[in-house]
Amino acid sequence: MSDNVLKAKIIRSHQRDFDCLIDETKEVVKATALGNLLKKGETLVVGDNVYLDTIAETGEFIIKEAMPRHNEIFRILVRTSKRKVTAANCDYLVILSSAARPRFKRGIIDRFLVRAFQWGVEPIVVFNKMDQYDPDEFDIQYEVLRLKELGVKYFEICALDKYYETQYLKGGMSEFREALKGKTALFVGQSGVGKSQTISCLSEGEVELKTKQVGKVGKGSHTTTWSEIVDLGDFYLIDSPGIRSFSLDDIDPDDLLELFPDLEEIARHCQFSNCNHEPENRGCAFYSEEYDPETEEGLMVHSRLESYQLIHSEISSTPFWQKKKKYR
Ligand code: GDP
Ligand code: ZN
Repeated sequence: MSDNVLKAKIIRSHQRDFDCLIDETKEVVKATALGNLLKKGETLVVGDNVYLDTIAETGEFIIKEAMPRHNEIFRILVRTSKRKVTAANCDYLVILSSAARPRFKRGIIDRFLVRAFQWGVEPIVVFNKMDQYDPDEFDIQYEVLRLKELGVKYFEICALDKYYETQYLKGGMSEFREALKGKTALFVGQSGVGKSQTISCLSEGEVELKTKQVGKVGKGSHTTTWSEIVDLGDFYLIDSPGIRSFSLDDIDPDDLLELFPDLEEIARHCQFSNCNHEPENRGCAFYSEEYDPETEEGLMVHSRLESYQLIHSEISSTPFWQKKKKYR
């Protein structure tokens, strides 16, 4: 390598061309990759940290080397069982939920937690539209207890009002903003929960316009086929088509339990091999005194078990060509 090797991050990819953000100067340059970095089935993706070299004669930038990834955002291709990676080095999977309209759905949070564990990305759960929260609809304290048990961070916000004061939880918009500082995040959640609104609330002033555009792209429209990382001032947003889907169709049912690490731990003590952990299996670890559904701890474990069983039956019973978005 020549002397002027630069460290950079890929922030946009279009097949063989990449926009790279140079670490030191924060300049964005176009670069092409050496052929051996784009081997069959493997490629460079947004979020990859790379070394750039310049061709002395033309001043063009070339990606010489990619650094190892901390994690990968991917789906498994059903036909080949190979990973299709769309982004790398993501710090947070922000799972946005809405307290009302659309109504709160615990099942969707559990689904995205599966992805977070699968990808090795730390999840954050955000309760949005708390201005419309009705305690009779669902018990936020109970939901939070479940997340605490899993060591997941959570925040209470109203994306329409950045001065909204939390009423139920400790952390609100400012704590959420603080957590995101300098990080790279992927926002997921059902359509209508307020992803665009939240992103726009987090990114003020000049970046707001850009955000609006991102919001549109993120809605799964067909306007883009490339992935990008958008600088929103305080943090970076990963935007990529297709990675916001709820469907867990690509996961092998046999691998699902390890994506519920809390349940896997209990299942390890189950005396039956091949147990489906249903109540009629007397002696199953999930129905021991310790996890009696009459107790709070038991109730929590059983609500996770319920999510697990629902997803498990869904991904085992449907032939992949019939698989559709189904969720509660
Ligand atoms: P997305 O599909 O997840 O990107 O959702 P949007 O950001 O487009 O928001 C959907 C709708 O919910 C819009 O009409 C927003 O104005 C509204 N909305 C977003 N956040 C809040 C909130 O905190 N409270 C209320 N009442 N409405 C909100
Ligand atoms: Zn069992």
